[in-house]
Amino acid sequence: MNNTLQKVVEILDSAKDIACFVHKSPDGDALGSALAVYNFYKDKKVRIWSPTGYPEFYGFLPGVENVRVYNDFSEVEKAEVALFLDCGDIGRVPGFDRSIFKTIINIDHHESNSGFAHYNIVDPSAPSTTTLLYEILKNSKKGTIDSIVAKCLYTGLYTDTGGFRYSNTTAYAFGVAASLISYGINPSEIAFEVYESYPFRRMKLLALALNTLELYFNGRVSVMTVYKEFFEKTGSLAEDTEDFVNYARAIKGVEVAIFIRERLSGGVKISLRSKNYLNVAEIARNFGGGGHFHAAGCEMDLPPEVAKKKLLEVIAGKLS
Ligand code: 5GP
Ligand code: MN
Repeated sequence: MNNTLQKVVEILDSAKDIACFVHKSPDGDALGSALAVYNFYKDKKVRIWSPTGYPEFYGFLPGVENVRVYNDFSEVEKAEVALFLDCGDIGRVPGFDRSIFKTIINIDHHESNSGFAHYNIVDPSAPSTTTLLYEILKNSKKGTIDSIVAKCLYTGLYTDTGGFRYSNTTAYAFGVAASLISYGINPSEIAFEVYESYPFRRMKLLALALNTLELYFNGRVSVMTVYKEFFEKTGSLAEDTEDFVNYARAIKGVEVAIFIRERLSGGVKISLRSKNYLNVAEIARNFGGGGHFHAAGCEMDLPPEVAKKKLLEVIAGKLS
């Protein structure tokens, strides 16, 4: 165990209270990480703070009803430790106020992570943040990993590898998965909850989104757009669009997929995915965002058509 990891274990074990922070539109890895901590340290006061809501299908995660969505950072309670989970940079937690925490810890696997905390466990080779957390919790002297904690950790690993399909699906990823399954979880039940339990409205929204698919640069770039009126038409929420970008990426010959979600408040949220050689984290950084080599995102205060044009211009120079 390296020194930082050892120190983080000690801090978490001895902390009276822990405030877990997940990023905007938290995914299975962010939620799974926070809920693993929540269920692991049963005897501590653990709060989970999210800047936005999460997809309804994550409702199966144990303790998810304890995720507190805040509108303004002043709603966040003071705590001994602030624990950032799966946050590539500090801006992923809008309005974060350092002064109400004694110690800040950052556990993450984004290559763009700047190491903004007092203690940073950042490993871009980790398949998910939950695998890093697994290494930490295994060394704890306070809690126990049971099937509930294992379910949360496994869900992060399962969703961040796209159901064990993406390039982060390594021997190590399968090794951790095998260990987690041995705590008594049911992988097929988790697969069912994640990929076969969508609300009907999401399917109607997907139908509209699929209809917007376009190809550029001889089919090497695909674009899918969700306009704000689609939400009204289908009764859907922003978080119902999680993973839509993968439909744009799934087209044969596509190297880069762009997903544009028009925000109700104006501007757009962009998701970028690539298949092979193009680093989309670099593209996202051009617009103040970040992420991983093959999966990244950013926000732009521009109408969808203008945002699309700007993205296509940057991507055009990088296609081989
Ligand atoms: P998604 O497209 O699913 O929202 O995000 C893909 C990846 O990019 C995730 O790892 C996410 O953390 C990161 N990401 C998405 N949007 C942003 C953003 O606005 N800023 C940063 N720094 N990272 C982002
Ligand atoms: Mn992640």
